[in-house]
Amino acid sequence: MIYQSLNHSSRPVDFESAVLNGIASDRGLYFPSEIRILPKKIISEIKNLSTNEIAYHSIKNFIGKSIPKKNLITIIDKTIDFEFPLVDVGDDIYSLELFHGPTLAFKDVGARFMARSLEYFNRNSNSVLTVLVATSGDTGGAVADGFYDVPGIRVIILYPKGKVSEIQKVQMTSYGKNITTIEVDGDFDDCQKFVKNAFLDEQIKSNCKLTSANSINVARWLPQMFYYFFAYKNIHKYNYPIVFSVPSGNFGNLCAGLMAKRIGLPIDKFIACTNLNDSFPRYLDSGIFDPKKTIPTISNAMDVGNPSNFPRIQKIYNNDINKLKKDILGYRFNDNQTRKIIKKVYAEFNYILDPHGAIGYMGLKKYFKSHTKSTGIFLETAHPIKFAETIEKKLKIKVEIPKSIDFSKQTVSSKLMSNYDDLKSFLLQN
Ligand SMILES: *Cc1c(COP(=O)(O)O)cnc(C)c1O
Repeated sequence: MIYQSLNHSSRPVDFESAVLNGIASDRGLYFPSEIRILPKKIISEIKNLSTNEIAYHSIKNFIGKSIPKKNLITIIDKTIDFEFPLVDVGDDIYSLELFHGPTLAFKDVGARFMARSLEYFNRNSNSVLTVLVATSGDTGGAVADGFYDVPGIRVIILYPKGKVSEIQKVQMTSYGKNITTIEVDGDFDDCQKFVKNAFLDEQIKSNCKLTSANSINVARWLPQMFYYFFAYKNIHKYNYPIVFSVPSGNFGNLCAGLMAKRIGLPIDKFIACTNLNDSFPRYLDSGIFDPKKTIPTISNAMDVGNPSNFPRIQKIYNNDINKLKKDILGYRFNDNQTRKIIKKVYAEFNYILDPHGAIGYMGLKKYFKSHTKSTGIFLETAHPIKFAETIEKKLKIKVEIPKSIDFSKQTVSSKLMSNYDDLKSFLLQN
């Protein structure tokens, strides 16, 4: 499989180089040059396939010859050794719970798939690979966990100071060893800018082998297709159109869903739900993509003013906004609405939403008001305990802490940085 840069002025590469480069040298996102539709049998007989088989079939064409079948199967086995339950919340709405992985957020899947792919690509090399990643909250923990102690790889995680939750911070700063965390005196967009600058910095490129683990990396983006296939397998009745509501920030997750549809999964519509960082819904309304500065909200993993996967979404629809609007609707919700719906769904259905899933849930409710009967699935992207402060205050109940979280873990201190040059000298010195 060949990947091309969406800026069209760097050379096409295979999956391995696309993963190692992260972003193309012309600053473009990598995009597969050809999209192969799955054999119909995979969909019609999905109930008879295991989740691992489904994952393998959905991604194999995107990997091509870069990873042999046997190794790809091992990577998948190591990536998805946890559950992806589809929970009936009531009123034709289902929660696709993506938070049963080690860091309780859906990003575990992409991070683990990428870590294991890099381990494979670096197998015969004796130089260390540096993975540089910016996080608005959840990516950090998932990447730290996925890459912890993977031989030949060091990880540097940048997060915005004071803008991640206590659990998120504990999750990324408590590893040590090959994991370094850096607190940036700024917001997520600043973190992202630092990372992008480092990738274009010739001096850094000639001194370290650098790769990104952000959702722009194809090894993180594409395995997210799995969720949509797994949900489809678990639907009981297929007599209504299927609608996925995706709480979105950088739009990697939604973009993977669109790709799942492109390769043959029968999804009727997608609802792109955001908090007040609503560049995408505004684009659907006005036809103009006009990113704004990030606004902090209680669904902080979605606090992204300028979603990086936007060009990929356009590409999937050949830059035709009318075609795009036939498949995707966009809604935005504020913090007050989010708090209210968490309370309401708990009171009515005894189901605890996290602030991100809550936005996905509201998207379906809004959609159902003006559309024919559908099966609605929202992606519950994080465990509510990760946002315990918000939820416990609102519901006046204690969210049970899953056994996998250990608050007693020693926190390794982060370095504080306020400009790109600090990061640059750190990378060059270490
Ligand atoms: C990252 C994240 C999102 C947004 O996903 P994107 O792929 O960036 O759109 C939503 N919810 C949670 C909990 C997240 O961690």
